[in-house]
Amino acid sequence: QTKLTTKAKDPYPDWKAGAPVPYAALCTTFSLIELTTKRLIITEHCALFLRQVLRLTPEDFLPTVLLMINKLAPDYAGIELGIGESLIMKAIGETTGRSLQVIKADQKEIGDLGLVAVKSRSTQPTMFKPKALTIRGVHKGLMDVATVTGNGAQGRKVDLIKKLLSSADAHSTGRVDISKDKGGPSEAKYLVRFLEGKLRLGLAEKTVLVAIAQAVISHEMEQKGKVPSTTQVEEAEALLKSVYSELPSWDVIIPAMVKNGIMNLKDTCKLRPGVPLKPMLAKPTKAITEVLDRFENQTFTCEYKYDGERAQIHYVAKERSDDLIEALPSATKEAANGVASIFSRNSEDLSKKYPDILVKLDTWIKEGTKSFVLDCETVAWDVTEKKVLPFQQLMTRKKKDVKVEDVKVKVCVFAFDLLFLNGEAVVEKSLRERRELLHNAFKPVEGEFAFATSMNGQELEEIQVFLDESVKASCEGLMVKMLDGSESGYEPSKRSRNWLKIKKDYLSGVGDSLDLVVLGAYYGKGKRTSVYGAFLLACYNAASDTYETICNIGTGFSEQVLEELHKQLSEIIIDRPKPFYSHSSGGQHQPDVWFEPRYVWEVKTADLTLSPRYKAGCKENVDPSGEKGISLRFPRFIKIRDDKKPDEATSSRQVAEMYRKQESVTKGPSVDDDF
Ligand code: ATP
Repeated sequence: QTKLTTKAKDPYPDWKAGAPVPYAALCTTFSLIELTTKRLIITEHCALFLRQVLRLTPEDFLPTVLLMINKLAPDYAGIELGIGESLIMKAIGETTGRSLQVIKADQKEIGDLGLVAVKSRSTQPTMFKPKALTIRGVHKGLMDVATVTGNGAQGRKVDLIKKLLSSADAHSTGRVDISKDKGGPSEAKYLVRFLEGKLRLGLAEKTVLVAIAQAVISHEMEQKGKVPSTTQVEEAEALLKSVYSELPSWDVIIPAMVKNGIMNLKDTCKLRPGVPLKPMLAKPTKAITEVLDRFENQTFTCEYKYDGERAQIHYVAKERSDDLIEALPSATKEAANGVASIFSRNSEDLSKKYPDILVKLDTWIKEGTKSFVLDCETVAWDVTEKKVLPFQQLMTRKKKDVKVEDVKVKVCVFAFDLLFLNGEAVVEKSLRERRELLHNAFKPVEGEFAFATSMNGQELEEIQVFLDESVKASCEGLMVKMLDGSESGYEPSKRSRNWLKIKKDYLSGVGDSLDLVVLGAYYGKGKRTSVYGAFLLACYNAASDTYETICNIGTGFSEQVLEELHKQLSEIIIDRPKPFYSHSSGGQHQPDVWFEPRYVWEVKTADLTLSPRYKAGCKENVDPSGEKGISLRFPRFIKIRDDKKPDEATSSRQVAEMYRKQESVTKGPSVDDDF
C-alpha cells in the first residue's frame, strides 16, 4: 500500500496547488530510485510522486509520466531527438564554459555524460539565477529539440539544449543531497541522460504503468476520504494493463483517466484505428512433437511463416464517423476511399515506406468493410515467376519517401489476423472466428494481397508435409496457433504459448535465432583491412537495463554487407564502453572500437555454451560458480533487424531459457571454442 506522508517542511516552496511541477521534484524522485534496485521500492517512489502530481497539478500528469519513461510522445508519432553524444558534449561545454576537449576527457574518465554535466556545472560560478525548470517546460524544451528541422538544425538543437542546461540546478534550496557519489539529485544529470535516451534507473515502462495505477486509485479513494483495499489496487493495475495493451498511448489514456476515473477507462479507451498495438508474438519450438505436446486435446491451425516485415494496417473509410478518422495520426496517407496507416512491429509509421500498399488497399476490401486493423506480413514478390522472394530483396527497398512510380521491389501482403472490424475490436474472439471475419471482409488479388496459407490438420505427418511445402514456397517454416476457445484470442504485446513457431533451419538446433545488439568491432585483417572484420554482440538484461556480451561474430557477412556496416557503425563510435555494458574487462578481449547501442542483428547459432569471456545470463544462475556467462558457438550473421530497438533484443532470460532447454546441458559441460 502506498502512503503519502506530507513532509513538515516542503522542499519545493514553488510547488503549490495549480503551479507547474518543479523538474527538481521529479529529479529527487529519480535520485531516490537510483539508490535501490528493488522493484517494489522503485514502484512506490514513482507512485508517491505521481500521486502528489495528481493532488496538486493534475495537468502535469502526462508530461511527468513521459519524462519518467524517457519518451516525448508515443512511438507512432515518430518524434525523435535526433542527437548523438558529440552534440550533447558540445552543449555541455558551451553552457559551462569548458572546452570540448575537457568534456571529452571527462567523459573518457567518468563514462556517464550525466555525471560529466554535473561536474561541469559545479565548477561554474552562478552569475544570475535563471528561472527554475518545470516538468512541462522541460517536456516542451525537449520537444522543441526534437522537432527542429531544416538548414542548421544541429546548431539550433545545441542552442535549445543549452537553454535547458543553463536553467538546470539553478535553485538548490531545500534539495536533499542524497548521494554525492551518484551525483546527488541533479537536474543536469537527468536532463542529459534523457537526451542520451537512457535514464539508467531500471525504470521500465511496465513499472511506471503499475505506479500510475496505484497513484490514481489511491488519489481517487483519498478524495472520497478512503484508502483503497489491496484488491482494489490489484484491479486497477490489471485494468490499466489491459487498456494499455489495446491502446498503448499515454496521450490518450491519461487525459481520459484524469477526467473519468481509472475504473471507467474501458468505456472510452478501446482499440481504435490510428493507435498501433504491440503485436502478439510466438514462442519458439524445436520439433513438431513439441507442438503436439503443447496443444494436446486442443484444436490448432498451421500457417506458413512468411519471411518479410510485420505490418499492422489501419484503415477507416471516408464515410465513417469523423472521430475515427481524427484518431489516425497526421502522417497518415490517403487511400483512395479512406485514410490509412501502416505500422511496424515497433509501432513506427511505415506509411512513407509502403505508399504502394496504401493506394491499393481499397481494391482488396469487400463492400461493407468500412474500418479495420489488419495484422500481416509484407513480402517481396517476384512478378514474373509469381512467387515469394527472399527477405534480402525486401531489405533493398527505400525506407522513406518512397514514390509509388519508383517502386522496384513489389510487395505482396499476406494477412493472417484481424483485430478490429467496422467499429469494433475483435481481439477477444477466437482465431477461427477472426479468420472467418477476415475472409469475409477482404478479397485476394494475385501478387498484391493474399490470406496466409493455412492448414487445420492435427496429425504429425500432415504437419510435416505442410512444413516442407512452406519451405518450398520460400517461407521460414510454420506458425502454429490455438484455433478455438478463449485462449485463441489475440494477445497484444505478448509472446504467447498460444502461438508457436517452427523454423525449418532450427529443427534440431537451439530452436530460434537470436536478435543481438552490436556493441563493438575489431579491425579486419588481410582482405578486410578497410572494414571491420568481427563484432562484439550482446543480449539485453531488462531487469538491470544492461547489455551483456554474448559472442564475437565474423561469419555470414558478404564483402558488400561489411562495407555497409562499416559506414553505418562508424557514425556511432564512442570513446569508451557505456557504463551499462556488461563485458569482461581483460585486455586482450577488448574490441578495437565501441559503439552506441543502436543496431540489432539477427544471428543464428549451432548451440550455446558457458564461457568466462562473456556475460550473457550470468545473473540467471546458469553457472553454479557465477563466473561464466552464456556464449554462442559458431554464430552466423543473418540480417539487420531494423524493426527492433536495442531493448527489444533477445533478453538474458531468454538466452538462459534456451541454454537450459538445450540437450547438451544434461550431457556435462561443453567447451568454449568460438572465435
Ligand atoms: P522472428 O521474426 O525472428 O521469428 P520475432 O521476435 O520478430 O521473431 P516472432 O513472434 O518470434 O517474432 O515470430 C513471428 C513473426 O513472424 C511475426 O512477427 C511476423 O512478422 C512473422 N510472420 C510470418 N508469417 C506469420 C503468420 N502466418 N502469423 C504470424 N506471424 C507471422
